Amino acid sequence: MHSYHIWTIGCQMNRADSERLESALDQMGLRSTLTPVEADVVVLNSCVVRQSAEDKVVGMLGSLRQVKDDSPDKVVALMGCMVGAKTQELERRFPQVDVFMPPQQLQPLVELVGERTGIDPAGCVGTLTARPGVNAYIPISKGCDKFCSFCIIPYRRGREVSRTVADVVHETELLGRRGVREVTLLGQNVDSYGHDLPGSPDLGDLLAAVNGVGAIERIRFLTSHPSDMSDHIIDKVAGLDKVCEHVNLPFQAGDDEVLSRMRRGYTGDQYRHLVEKVRERVPNVSLSTDLIVGFCGETDSQFQRTLDMVRDIRFDKVHSAAYSTREGTIAARKLADDVPPGEKRARLKAVDELQESIQAEINGGLLGQTVEVLVEGTRRGRVQGRSRNDKLVYLAGGHDRIGEVATVKIDSTSPWSLSGAVVSAA
Ligand code: SF4
Repeated sequence: MHSYHIWTIGCQMNRADSERLESALDQMGLRSTLTPVEADVVVLNSCVVRQSAEDKVVGMLGSLRQVKDDSPDKVVALMGCMVGAKTQELERRFPQVDVFMPPQQLQPLVELVGERTGIDPAGCVGTLTARPGVNAYIPISKGCDKFCSFCIIPYRRGREVSRTVADVVHETELLGRRGVREVTLLGQNVDSYGHDLPGSPDLGDLLAAVNGVGAIERIRFLTSHPSDMSDHIIDKVAGLDKVCEHVNLPFQAGDDEVLSRMRRGYTGDQYRHLVEKVRERVPNVSLSTDLIVGFCGETDSQFQRTLDMVRDIRFDKVHSAAYSTREGTIAARKLADDVPPGEKRARLKAVDELQESIQAEINGGLLGQTVEVLVEGTRRGRVQGRSRNDKLVYLAGGHDRIGEVATVKIDSTSPWSLSGAVVSAA
């Protein structure tokens, strides 16, 4: 057993799990391949948040059936949100799969590879950290207690469980020693981090502890929930030098009735006040958000309140999606998915066009300014990195710049990225 291939779909939590599994398999001496056909171990890391994502996973599983028939020794693993506590139904549907692993539970595959290779997996399992690059994701909690009516995550990832501060700091130190300069602390709702731990440390306390890890230059966190973002967390974001001035704060809908049907736990006004507070206390903060159009029963005037929110708040980035029913959610059981598909598409287009014009203006305002960029990698012959505000920045140079923190003067902008020349670098 010499090689592996990991296919990943879905959110950053899944990307973090895949990075950790890659790291463990690398440590066991396997190398990654470009295609599943070449690999001895094939892993699909699945997502079920949207039907289209689940359909893609099922399609991949279908294509692996023949591959497995041709090479029965190949190990096929399915991980991520498609895998719940009980796997009998999945085992029946997908006999080509050898190992099923719920999110963040990577040990079964690592142990199986250990058995087949004769390599003791204990060390690899014990230090499951992200594969080192310039930046790395660190899960700080798993699961979610919110049960928003449209969301399947609490059913698939379970109730919220936090890792200890010491555990997260230890992983950050390990990553720092392996060359990582930026960490992103991940959870479905990072603002409720720690309520289940002795002494109830919160995200602010965790940020302060991670801020003390010398090798790390930058800290980010994803995803926040408007109901749980406390003053203490905001003050830590404002006061800690390594915590980047960027907050992803999903609002989902602008109308209070829609928010109530979504079971989000706040009103549009409460969200607006929170944004005001964050902007007051964290100078130069950038804001991104998630929103859903065409949720059950959303009228045109209710949708207009979502557009108003986008127009008034002027986010730096908006992740927009048209609602689609997920079996097993509260909305699927109790609400009718009654906005016609054409109307959903039109609403999505209206949001995206408005947001594109806002991003063009916000980014255009950065022309001629200097920003601090952590150089992350190369793409299409250009070096790229991100500013502390999470702007994608392209600059001239080669591989040797990767890992540098460069001061870059912006000389051109688009709604999606900035470009500039390096003024100085460290
Ligand atoms: S906060 Fe809501 S949308 Fe986010 S993971 Fe939890 S239930 Fe899903």
